[in-house]
Amino acid sequence: MGTIALYIHIPFCQKKCNYCDFNSYSGKQHLIRDYIEALKKEIRMNKNVLDSNKISTIFFGGGTPSILEGDQIVIIMDTITKYCDIEENAEVSIEANPGTLSHDKLAKYYDSGINRLSIGLQACQNDLLKTLGRIHSFEDYLENLKEAREIGFSNINTDLMFSLPGQSKEDLEECLERVVSLNIPHISAYSLIIEEGTLFGDWVDNKTIILPDEEIQLEMYHSTIRYLKEKNYIHYEISNFAKPGFQCRHNMTYWHNEPYLGLGAGSHSYLNKKRFNNVNDIEKYIYLVKNERTPVENEIDVSDKDEIGETMFLGLRLIEGISVKKFIERFNASPFEIYREQIEKFSAQGLLEYDKANIRLTQRGIDLSNVVFREMLLD
Ligand code: SF4
Repeated sequence: MGTIALYIHIPFCQKKCNYCDFNSYSGKQHLIRDYIEALKKEIRMNKNVLDSNKISTIFFGGGTPSILEGDQIVIIMDTITKYCDIEENAEVSIEANPGTLSHDKLAKYYDSGINRLSIGLQACQNDLLKTLGRIHSFEDYLENLKEAREIGFSNINTDLMFSLPGQSKEDLEECLERVVSLNIPHISAYSLIIEEGTLFGDWVDNKTIILPDEEIQLEMYHSTIRYLKEKNYIHYEISNFAKPGFQCRHNMTYWHNEPYLGLGAGSHSYLNKKRFNNVNDIEKYIYLVKNERTPVENEIDVSDKDEIGETMFLGLRLIEGISVKKFIERFNASPFEIYREQIEKFSAQGLLEYDKANIRLTQRGIDLSNVVFREMLLD
């Protein structure tokens, strides 16, 4: 019996944020009921995989999973519980956005077995939230957080963003101070990435918004690391910080390049040396599953070389880096042999460091991680 992580994609949002290019849609909430039926069916269609694997973690991601009513999450969780062998003490997360939460929803999520809440705050200044096109205020976040804690949630993440148009270093510091003062055990801090085809993409092109210059963006990132470390958070992944014991186990599956099954429109899976993904379109996904047809639209074989390369660059996202021992156990070869050239080159440039146990990026290597990652893929 193997062990896999389970990802459930909920592609609905109340409103599309100005920077977002995720597979998420507003104005399609009328499809939620059919979507849940399709999800239940897709779970059943994966009976073989689910019969031969235990589930270590479950993650409801989006989109905005918290757009679903409490009873709707209960229905999905009941189906998962019926068809899956879930490990005792499994981490079960849901992404939740303030403005879509209520005491009743949170209570039902909690009773259904969800034990980790990931709240998309992004910033604590309401004018910045407005620029981002978020539907909530900082006060909504505070209220939802209070409700969640009253109900019993203690494993809570808060997402923050930096490098935002109009955001000063002081704005970011204020956000970090406020979130830390609320004793949030896990913080994800992401730099805004401008994606083509989003409103922000257009606004940057026509100069409606101006981003902080690159030097300031880097200073924001470095000061985030400094401050959170000072406050006893472990910087464990490029963008993630946790109090001891609160690292996100589900995301660790991805960074360790371990198997996971994704269900729902646009979800991705990595199983049995194959990567595959479902159709993005919600209607198409519902139609296919309803008619007993697979929603998978792409599937690629992962060769041994691909697996080694992906394990390296995903693992280097972790601050502790790649475990040499685990690498040898998995691939029956030493990373120092396979990557001799790259390790020598990047160490000499001060981007990589290593000892007998681990190979990891230096802080400069993290800042230039894409340069290193590119060369970890093997031909
Ligand atoms: S809530 Fe999240 S998924 Fe939805 S539009 Fe905003 S950023 Fe995208």
